[in-house]
Amino acid sequence: MTIENVIIIGSGPAGFTAGLYTARAQLNPLLITGNEIGGQVALTHEIENYPGFPEGLPGPELVERFQKQAERFGTRIEYDYVNEVDFHRHPFIVRTQSGKEYQARSVIVSTGATPRKLQVPGEEELTGRGVSYCGTCDGFFFRGKEVVVVGGGDSAIEEGIFLTRFATKVTVIHRRDELRASKILQKRAFENEKMDFIWDTVVESINAGENNAVASVTLRNVKTGEIREFPTDGVFIFIGHVPNSQIFEGQLEMKDGYVVTNKYMHTSVPGVFAAGEIQDNRFRQVASSVGQGTMAAMEAEKFLAELEDKGYEQVRAEMLGLELAGA
Ligand SMILES: Cc1cc2nc3c(=O)[nH]c(=O)nc-3n(C[C@H](O)[C@H](O)[C@H](O)COP(=O)(O)OP(=O)(O)OC[C@H]3O[C@@H](n4cnc5c(N)ncnc54)[C@H](O)[C@@H]3O)c2cc1C
Repeated sequence: MTIENVIIIGSGPAGFTAGLYTARAQLNPLLITGNEIGGQVALTHEIENYPGFPEGLPGPELVERFQKQAERFGTRIEYDYVNEVDFHRHPFIVRTQSGKEYQARSVIVSTGATPRKLQVPGEEELTGRGVSYCGTCDGFFFRGKEVVVVGGGDSAIEEGIFLTRFATKVTVIHRRDELRASKILQKRAFENEKMDFIWDTVVESINAGENNAVASVTLRNVKTGEIREFPTDGVFIFIGHVPNSQIFEGQLEMKDGYVVTNKYMHTSVPGVFAAGEIQDNRFRQVASSVGQGTMAAMEAEKFLAELEDKGYEQVRAEMLGLELAGA
């Protein structure tokens, strides 16, 4: 079986950037996309804060550009999903849903994060029937309708503003009495006539109407305890993310579900690097993920050069600061 130099897991900004850099370094990388090509960016209608695009650009277009640039230098793309890894042995093993097994000298983990669920009755059953986690994908279906947005951070407000292009009214339901979103987004939201706010309130359940689509939400005021039913055609949920780290349980050191890295993007296993939101719950931006993808790729390159000179046991020991027996 061929041993890959580097396998990149995930096709978000961190993954495609790692692909670009390792391909330009002649490492012939293999990138396994996962189910969402482009990751969260593909779900974003407009990216305004990625440098080099002063007018902003649609998320899906940025993804296309990332992919094109990575492929231009030879990144091989596999449309598959990794469901098992073995980092306890070297070369590392990566297994996919389609039944393939790969061996790799180094791995870059960039599996990012997926939207957090509210975990209330009705949410699961009504997903795709009025419940959504992506304004860009589903906003169009709510033309002329009324929707609620749950959350108070940047994503919630940004997507809420976007939804006013379609919906006649967007009501933001937030569990606190002020938003966490950046001031510029708050200003835009407060000035938008189609937007309304319900403060100190959580969603208790999402309720179906006659046609088995969303008809209302049951709300609870966290200060007064008052419960009421609020009619709506759609529920857009933006309450944060959970890292896609399940397959690394028992393989890599983790904290609160995030893969632990040092400042060079090294994980607890020498030769396995991690970049983007899988290891970063602080910055969570396209630009920071791209930066971390760059760092992980450059470190993988250095690791592979040392591996060739010294062999895995020696490099591993050096990276972990261990003495090799008999060395
Ligand atoms: C609605 C919304 C709006 C946003 N707006 C902005 C913005 O305006 N500006 C900004 O800078 N940032 C924005 N962000 C955040 C930005 O999109 C993320 O910070 C960035 O995408 C993180 O990149 P990443 O590469 O770490 O992972 P992600 O984008 O999360 O991608 C993860 C990738 O890993 C893959 N994957 C997961 N599990 C597996 C597996 N087991 N096997 C193989 N592949 C796997 C997925 O398919 C996906 O391709 C927004 C996010 C959202 C959701």
